[in-house]
Amino acid sequence: MTRQHVAMDLLIAFAQGSLSVEERRQVMRHLLACEGDCRSRLRGVIREEDPIRGDRDWPQDLVTPEMLAAERTDATLLWHGSLKNLDAGRRLFVVRDNARYHTWGVQERLLEESKALISEDPLQSLDLCHLSLEVVHRMSLDRYRRSDIADLRAATLAAISNGKRLIGDLDGAQEAIEQSLESLEWGTGDPLEEAHILSIYGSLLTDLGQIEEAVQVLGAGARDAREVGDTQLQAKLVLQQASSIGWFDPARGLALNRKALRLLEPGRSPNLDQVARYQLIFLLCELGQVRQARALFNAWKDSFRSQPYQGFFWHSRTLRLEAALSRQEGDFAACESHLNELLDHYAERRMHHDLALTTLDLAELYTANRRFDEAQMLLDNILPLFRKWRVPADVLRAWLMIEEGVKGRTLEAVSIREASRLIRRSWYRG
Ligand SMILES: [Zn+2]
Repeated sequence: MTRQHVAMDLLIAFAQGSLSVEERRQVMRHLLACEGDCRSRLRGVIREEDPIRGDRDWPQDLVTPEMLAAERTDATLLWHGSLKNLDAGRRLFVVRDNARYHTWGVQERLLEESKALISEDPLQSLDLCHLSLEVVHRMSLDRYRRSDIADLRAATLAAISNGKRLIGDLDGAQEAIEQSLESLEWGTGDPLEEAHILSIYGSLLTDLGQIEEAVQVLGAGARDAREVGDTQLQAKLVLQQASSIGWFDPARGLALNRKALRLLEPGRSPNLDQVARYQLIFLLCELGQVRQARALFNAWKDSFRSQPYQGFFWHSRTLRLEAALSRQEGDFAACESHLNELLDHYAERRMHHDLALTTLDLAELYTANRRFDEAQMLLDNILPLFRKWRVPADVLRAWLMIEEGVKGRTLEAVSIREASRLIRRSWYRG
């Protein structure tokens, strides 16, 4: 299916909505990866299937750029004047029945406010996305083009998917992104819109452990960004590819990361610059090119530490680099101290997944130094937590295997690294 282009009758059935869920998914997967003309053929089919759409698509009182600007100004008034200080229930009550809120301007504003909250308060951020979706569903077809509304719906559902992913609701995230991609097919076909949505989809697939699919989807997004000449966005998507694959195949990750560095225009997006630098050091280190990695780290560490955006995040990233570098350099004492600091950091913030993986890193270090008792104690201590967090059964099994191996002194440090990869892949799948 992915190799062969989609047959015409299948495209027609897709546009009519008469395919099974699995068939729809397969068609969708192909459309995302397709470098041929399947998508433009689908657009042709959709136009034919919906003859009134031609007219409906250009409403008489179509919103103009001036009207949109006025809507944005009004949205600012509505946000500060009423919505900002209400709770989610009251907001919905106010927005639902008042047509003044059913505008592109308000929809956009709600999405922006939700994005600003995403790392600080993901639940409230998600509430705002849902409210934004309520607005989309109430926008008038007399004022907006159907295809524009479809784009807005797609973007909102993608934001919902991202929010759900971040709070760990991966099933909900998947459902939302599938609806988003469907909506996109009815939209304007704006490659920029699609690139943003594929970026979110790629992160989700990575979290689901579907690495190859993630790399493919992110590649499609990068092509979209290149098509409209947005090299910064293209670089962001290539960086995502590098980070997704880097853990399993560092050489491939490094090649992608270098490509992203060539695309990035230094200084335009300081956060992306830093992510690219961070990944470069990490991948060089994984590949055993420690001296070069250390030199780059020394040159850049101050810029990591002074990141204003998500300060604690960069603090932990810097610690991870320090731990990885000292491990490769054979400075076990330094590595141990960095890993312990990281464990405190993750425990404080209840970052379970990172806590578990860092525990494994430390256990691996102890095992390599034949400090089996300490390794065993570490692994024992985290098991009751695993049960409390209801981690997937195969993660638990991998963990018990490691524990047995350490107990019997039969496990090599290298097997811990392998198990750690396995756990990374299957943590979310459940
Ligand atoms: Zn195709």
